[in-house]
Amino acid sequence: MKPDLFESPDYYNLDDLLTEEQKLVRTAARDWVKRDVSPIIEEAAQKAEFPKQIIKGLADIGAFGPYIPEEYGGAGLDQISYGLIMQEIERGDSGVRSTASVQSSLVMYPIFKFGNEEQRQKYLPKLASGEYMGCFGLTEPDHGSNPGGMVTNFKDKGDHYLLNGAKMWISNSPFADIAVVWAKSEEGRIYGLIVERGMEGFSTPETHNKWSLRASATGELIFDNVKVPKENLLPNKSGLGAPLMCLDSARFGIAWGVIGAAMDCYDTALRYAKERHQFGKPIGSFQLQQKKLAEMITEITKAQLLAWRLGTLRNEGKATSAQISMAKRNNVDMALKIARDARQILGGMGISGEYSIMRHMMNLESVVTYEGTHDIHLLITGMDITGLNAFK
Ligand SMILES: Cc1cc2nc3c(=O)[nH]c(=O)nc-3n(C[C@H](O)[C@H](O)[C@H](O)COP(=O)(O)OP(=O)(O)OC[C@H]3O[C@@H](n4cnc5c(N)ncnc54)[C@H](O)[C@@H]3O)c2cc1C
Repeated sequence: MKPDLFESPDYYNLDDLLTEEQKLVRTAARDWVKRDVSPIIEEAAQKAEFPKQIIKGLADIGAFGPYIPEEYGGAGLDQISYGLIMQEIERGDSGVRSTASVQSSLVMYPIFKFGNEEQRQKYLPKLASGEYMGCFGLTEPDHGSNPGGMVTNFKDKGDHYLLNGAKMWISNSPFADIAVVWAKSEEGRIYGLIVERGMEGFSTPETHNKWSLRASATGELIFDNVKVPKENLLPNKSGLGAPLMCLDSARFGIAWGVIGAAMDCYDTALRYAKERHQFGKPIGSFQLQQKKLAEMITEITKAQLLAWRLGTLRNEGKATSAQISMAKRNNVDMALKIARDARQILGGMGISGEYSIMRHMMNLESVVTYEGTHDIHLLITGMDITGLNAFK
């Protein structure tokens, strides 16, 4: 792969809106990605392997639980800092960002928010340091966009719960030490349970043959009469609203993360367009190529503003789920279109692993689907503005 020459675009001087702390956090993440992710990520993606050696680095830059309080091992940062960390990691690779998102927003967040003090003390510091890795089991083979229909269930057996069912498309599952699993009680109410690797009847087969997020491990979670200790149930919230709150936090991270992927594609295409000559001129001098580049920087700038404003709303505790949906949908779509256009600017080189664009493009095909598809987020906005439910 080519050396990482990335220069971050900031067309509207958005750095003026960031605090010194936010900029420091971003610099640490950016430097780490350049040093420890860029040199190894193409090979990891080609081999379809999650590069486990980067776990410690992710913990060191605060990517595991950026906004979880320091007393539990988190970085105690604000939401914009969290977003900036996700942006920088996804500038390297969406699969690596997925690992960090899951760990922070889908494993640490529910334990922090819905767990008791004992559970927080037991799991959060180890998750923050990367000693434990976690995954989040919501999606099932027959219930993706409609997770409320889940069939995974647990029964009260007196001194333990008996868990049965299956989850699929679970990021980090093949190597996770713990899984936060959403399942229905005998009364049909959804609860989160912490399932630990090694519990009898619990297995995590890996999903192979992905053309997307190849540097992220994805798998199933199978529960065959798993005895889960009663103290592993998250007691402080039940119902579908609990996993949806986790998804709000993760979707916010995605809205920022994909800006990183888009910036990397734009920066690569801009440099290539100035260096590559055809017909005796740089290809960047042709209007058709300038149109692509000019539209890219316009869309990146709009996405940056959307993410920043959403971050301020999150910091004030005022962001709604529908606002988060809008940003996730808009920004992923923006990044995917930029990746496709950037790939064209590089001509044949656009499909080569010498450059990051094709990898970003394929990764974004998962990002546009997971954590609520492009269409589902549109329906959420539609319902929010009309008050009418078009889901069913
Ligand atoms: C690489 C990867 C990693 C993932 N990681 C995780 C994870 O860690 N944990 C987890 O729980 N899940 C994870 N997922 C699952 C992901 O969240 C689901 O794939 C996603 O929610 C969509 O569900 P589905 O694939 O079953 O598609 P479906 O729900 O079957 O949807 C298929 C199509 O139908 C459309 N559709 C569905 N309902 C409606 C409707 N009412 N109106 C109009 N159109 C509709 C959808 O928009 C989509 O285009 C991951 C997925 C991938 C690909």
